[in-house]
Amino acid sequence: MPISKSFSRIPFVDLSAQYKTIASEVNPAIQSVIDSCAFILGPEVKKFEEEFTRFCDVGFAVSVDSGTSAIELALRAFDVGPGDEVIAPANTFIATVLPITQLGAQPVLVDQHPDTYTIDVDQIEAAITERTKVIMPVHLYGQPADMDPILEIAKRHDLIVIEDAAQAHGARYKGKRVGGFGHAAAFSFYPGKNLGAYGDGGIVVTNDAQIDDKLRLLRNYGQRKKYHHEEIGFNHRLDSIQAAILRVKLQHLDAWNAARREHAADYTRLLEGFGVHPPMVPTYSEPIWHLYVIRVQNRDGFQAFLKERNIDSGIHYPIPIHLQPAYQYLGYKKGDFPVTDGFADNIVSLPMYAELTDEMVAYVVEAIKDFL
Ligand SMILES: *Cc1c(COP(=O)(O)O)cnc(C)c1O
Repeated sequence: MPISKSFSRIPFVDLSAQYKTIASEVNPAIQSVIDSCAFILGPEVKKFEEEFTRFCDVGFAVSVDSGTSAIELALRAFDVGPGDEVIAPANTFIATVLPITQLGAQPVLVDQHPDTYTIDVDQIEAAITERTKVIMPVHLYGQPADMDPILEIAKRHDLIVIEDAAQAHGARYKGKRVGGFGHAAAFSFYPGKNLGAYGDGGIVVTNDAQIDDKLRLLRNYGQRKKYHHEEIGFNHRLDSIQAAILRVKLQHLDAWNAARREHAADYTRLLEGFGVHPPMVPTYSEPIWHLYVIRVQNRDGFQAFLKERNIDSGIHYPIPIHLQPAYQYLGYKKGDFPVTDGFADNIVSLPMYAELTDEMVAYVVEAIKDFL
């Protein structure tokens, strides 16, 4: 146990620690948008989209007002609606599935792989019917789903692939950043994500010029020219102030992700042999560690023990999609996805953010060892 600690508490994430490191860049960026009064779809939005396009090595990027909107507009751009089925993992955040059902389509869930926590690719084909239109893998916890077999299945069955990359800005699959593998990909800039705005935000990326065009119409009242409405569109635009903040933060993202990678490597090394199942990283994967998830018995006791030592933790997610009250009508029951169901009571997420220090990581690990 460290004797002279330079901290009094280890939060789960620490947005203010990050802000302190970039305040001198972010504050003038915000002020310059205010000075320009270009609040909606101004130059900052355009520049951010160009920069994020390059970051993901894709053709196009259309910014929107949240990650949920990004998924919804991506589905709409491919005309997903009533009668269509969308395959998605059972273990994910609810926002993967909400847009599917809001469009009147049917989510068809698939269990997670026990080692990677991402969709079990060997179970996808059994979920395909003649109504299946989209496969939506989630790069959960910042770990890329196994894209090659997914793309191969999609090709064989003539399906669209939309990546839910909300937790995976900059993660690499076989050396290439996620976002460009499917027909489109959705990212979230919720403040706690690896690339987070100071409010809500999201973006859709694609290599398809027609989809890019459709997304731009959909997010902005269905208009190309002011007051000329070609489609029944929406107001789902990213604010210019958020774009300006995200432009600053994008410059730091690789370094922040690298710092998370070091903390994850330390957790994994120091927890080896303690039976907490540190996350497995397949050779194809370079995760960005949005979350660092282990499994423990007596999770309530574990979290309370950490709390006593001023360490916050989280659960992602305590209730899988198919057991959420809102989705009882889908007709699933506990046990339908044995891996997801089996892990749901044991998973726990440790503090993870770039500004953690080695001392803090060691302190968390000591507490875990003491509990065990
Ligand atoms: C955060 C998140 C979303 C939704 O993003 P919001 O910006 O919060 O709307 C979607 N899918 C996953 C997996 C997420 O983690």
